[in-house]
Amino acid sequence: MENEGLNLPNYNIPEDIQNVVSITTLDRLYNWGRRSSVWPLMFGLACCAIEMIAAQAARYDMARFGMEVMRPTPRQADMMLVSGTVTKKMLPSIIRLYNQMPEPKYVVAMGACASSGGPFKEGYNVVAGIDKFLPVDVYIPGCPPTPQALIAGLIKLQEKIDKQSIKKVRWYQKGKVDPNYVPMPILGPDLIDVRRNAEFKQVAAQTAQKEGEA
Ligand code: SF4
Repeated sequence: MENEGLNLPNYNIPEDIQNVVSITTLDRLYNWGRRSSVWPLMFGLACCAIEMIAAQAARYDMARFGMEVMRPTPRQADMMLVSGTVTKKMLPSIIRLYNQMPEPKYVVAMGACASSGGPFKEGYNVVAGIDKFLPVDVYIPGCPPTPQALIAGLIKLQEKIDKQSIKKVRWYQKGKVDPNYVPMPILGPDLIDVRRNAEFKQVAAQTAQKEGEA
C-alpha cells in the first residue's frame, strides 16, 4: 500500500487539503504503520543467512521496505526470519526467542531447509521444517533463495499484514491466556513436542493393550 493508499477511496478529500488530511479506518492505519516498519530479528542459521545479509546490503537494500532495523534482541523484533537449517539442538533456542518477541509477530521460513528440512530432511539431527513448531506466515522456496526472492517473500508478508483486522488477529483475542506461547520441545534421542503429549499417551496405551492381548 502506498502512503496515498491510506485514504479510503470512497471519500473525496478536497485537493487543497489532501496533503494534510486523511480519512481512513483504524485497521488500515494500524496495518499501514506495521507493514512499513517490520523489524527482523538478527540471526542466521546456515548458508541462507548469507543471502539474507546480501538483501540487507546496498545492492538490494531491504530498507526500501522499512525492514532495515535488524534487532539483536527478540524484545525489539516483530519478524523472525528463519534463514537456514533448523537442527534439533538449535530448535529450543529458536522457540525461546519466538516466545520472547512481542506481538504482533511474524515468522518467515527462508529456503528449503527452514520450510521442509531441505537437503537434510532425513537427517537424524534436523527438523523437517520450522512450521512443525512455529506458525509460519510466508514460505520462500530456494536453496538458497536469492535476495530478490527474499524481498518478494517480504512483500507477500506486507500484503498479508494489509489484510489483517486488529479485532481478528489471534494476538488480541479475549479469553485466551497466551495464544502466542509455544511450549519448548523436550530434547532427547528425538524431539518431543509437548503439545502432542495426549496423542503420545493414547498411542502408548493402545500399544500396551495390544501387547497384553497378544
Ligand atoms: S536451503 Fe540450501 S542454502 Fe539454505 S540453509 Fe539449506 S542447504 Fe543452505
